[in-house]
Amino acid sequence: MASADVHMAGGAETETFAFQAEINQLLSLIINTFYSNKEIFLRELISNASDALDKIRFESLTDKSKLDAQPELFIRLVPDKASKTLSIIDSGVGMTKSDLVNNLGTIARSGTKEFMEALAAGATDVSMIGQFGVGFYSAYLVADKVVVTTKHNDDEQYVWESQAGGSFTVTLDTTGERLGRGTKITLFLKDDQLEYLEERRLKDLVKKHSEFISYPIYLWTEKTAEKEISDDEDEEDSKEKKEGDVEEVDDDDDDKDSKKKKKKVKEVTHEWVQINKQKPIWLRKPEEITREEYASFYKSLTNDWEDHLAVKHFAVEGQLEFKAILFVPRRAPFDLFDTRKKLNNIKLYVRRVFIMDNCEELIPEWLGFVKGVVDSDDLPLNISRETLQQNKILKVIRKNLVKKCIEMFFEIAENKEDYAKFYDAFSKNIKLGIHEDSQNRAKLADLLRYHSTKSGDEMTSLKDYVTRMKEGQKDIYYITGESKKAVENSPFLERLKKGGYEVLFMVDAIDEYAVGQLKEYDGKKLVSATKEGLKLDEDDEEAKKRREERKKQFEDLCKVIKDILGDRVEKVVVSDRIVDSPCCLVTGEYGWTANMERIMKAQALRDTSMGAYMSSKKTMEINPDNGIMEELRKRAEADRNDKSVKDLVLLLFETALLTSGFSLDDPNTFAARIHRMLKLGLNIDEDAAADEDADMPALEEGAAEESKMEEVD
Ligand code: ADP
Ligand code: MG
Repeated sequence: MASADVHMAGGAETETFAFQAEINQLLSLIINTFYSNKEIFLRELISNASDALDKIRFESLTDKSKLDAQPELFIRLVPDKASKTLSIIDSGVGMTKSDLVNNLGTIARSGTKEFMEALAAGATDVSMIGQFGVGFYSAYLVADKVVVTTKHNDDEQYVWESQAGGSFTVTLDTTGERLGRGTKITLFLKDDQLEYLEERRLKDLVKKHSEFISYPIYLWTEKTAEKEISDDEDEEDSKEKKEGDVEEVDDDDDDKDSKKKKKKVKEVTHEWVQINKQKPIWLRKPEEITREEYASFYKSLTNDWEDHLAVKHFAVEGQLEFKAILFVPRRAPFDLFDTRKKLNNIKLYVRRVFIMDNCEELIPEWLGFVKGVVDSDDLPLNISRETLQQNKILKVIRKNLVKKCIEMFFEIAENKEDYAKFYDAFSKNIKLGIHEDSQNRAKLADLLRYHSTKSGDEMTSLKDYVTRMKEGQKDIYYITGESKKAVENSPFLERLKKGGYEVLFMVDAIDEYAVGQLKEYDGKKLVSATKEGLKLDEDDEEAKKRREERKKQFEDLCKVIKDILGDRVEKVVVSDRIVDSPCCLVTGEYGWTANMERIMKAQALRDTSMGAYMSSKKTMEINPDNGIMEELRKRAEADRNDKSVKDLVLLLFETALLTSGFSLDDPNTFAARIHRMLKLGLNIDEDAAADEDADMPALEEGAAEESKMEEVD
């Protein structure tokens, strides 16, 4: 602990700490910016209290004595008009001294920067603070000073205090009111925030944001009653009411004659009033719960400020019993695929008792965006993270949850607009599911949507694709690539398009993986337009014959080209798939596509052996109907060693790399070749320009060396 300054105050040691830089920035932002929905601070502090209570309750499942210092679990709100303070007290786990220093100011939180950036960009508002893991600091929306008193079972009672401004102090608390166990957060409210001392306001806020907290929330409420008492009773009575302040009320009108003088007194008493309902919503009947109630439960569960997109509330009965509510959010969280953070948002309860957050065994990773609660009647209360892994009951629950999630996605798909939103946010998860979940793969395939050569602006499902298949068409065609733009005019699609076949555009990196596992849909093979083995049905016998003839004619040229290109290609064949372009480079049916090669290069995580094995084995396909090829054929026939043929073949190869989605290993040689062609086109004499090109190797001669350089690694 790096304390900047230590001094003694009243016998207790006070240490001063500097806030971590980003937290400090966040505090300035919170304090100096105008925000309209400051009220969310209460939700954040109550949510922290509830988390702390969850922790001690969980610890007590295995060690009852942990509750000894304070057996009751509660949250209390105490507004105090005299001191203009609002206190939030919980009997949760509390914080040790080092917890205080680390959690409240010195350790950077990953979400801090993201939150500030999102705020600055207007992409979020302050109410989202809890999602970024810095909810505590929302206290400074309404307070200019915050004091945190806390007692953890393993440490003494400490006080944390800060008026922001760069630092906070921590002091051992030997004299203050004893907490037993837990935390008391006292907010010294800003003068324009005194509304948070009003009972009505606090009650409404708890109802609005914290209704589903599963611990009782008590409000310290003031009651005023008028009471008539006789003089004699007076003294006695005021002694009895310890907490009540008794004010005397003047009443000089009537009973002047009466012997026994009567007095009217205004009596102020205080009591704890529970202001939340607490019956878990998942125990109620779905048909009796309104959409608003689900929404407010969802918000309290997730800190989301928007309603959920979909909800599934169900009970499984029979041999195994559990209840669950699952939600799909409207947006993907900012860190959906952050591998540092295992995302999982299902809370596990056992017979109404909260057991744990983020129970990994409950739901597979690809469903990490689904939020909700599961309450099991069958799991043991003292279940630990370790024993969860082997637990059979949990496996059954998990299977059911996956099934229900998929059902819920199909329900979303019934509404086009909602599904577009869903797909935009979570299509990657669905594809990951296809990759990983062999049991549900076929079902999940129905959730896929792609743009295609025929879909226009809309996206199409595989099901709809099948309804549009041509008579006699056996396979489903797709092309993978970097973007819709990059693939829609690809040479690979020429013949397919001309023949009226629809081709799906798979332009998500994860599509390569998903389609690799999916392999077929509805009994129809998924066939890549850029790989070997694309067989189109011949239109008629005549055409077939003609093609065979052309193939024979070009056999020799294929050999010549293969000789020139050497190891750069596996083989050279006459193409069935191109119509206009002179040639293209296809990859092996089971190897990587050009797109996959690009993805793997970008990820830089392939191990080199795998790279050599998987990386694309290219086959050059040439188009016999293309003028360039026809000319090449003639020249090669006349002289196999014609230098211009070599040069042209290399240029065609490099151009085909580009149009087929590969990258050029050596763009300079390619450019030099183009420049040479330009000069030819412009009738610039090679010799006259020779001086400038002195360093340039004779292109066709360099071929042998280049072939080594460009070999696939
Ligand atoms: P988060 O709740 O997302 O962790 P916060 O900024 O709200 O982020 O809280 C920071 C941390 O401070 C919590 O993780 C917890 O360790 C600690 N903390 C805050 N309030 C309490 C409390 N009432 N009792 C115990 N610990 C708390
Ligand atoms: Mg919090």
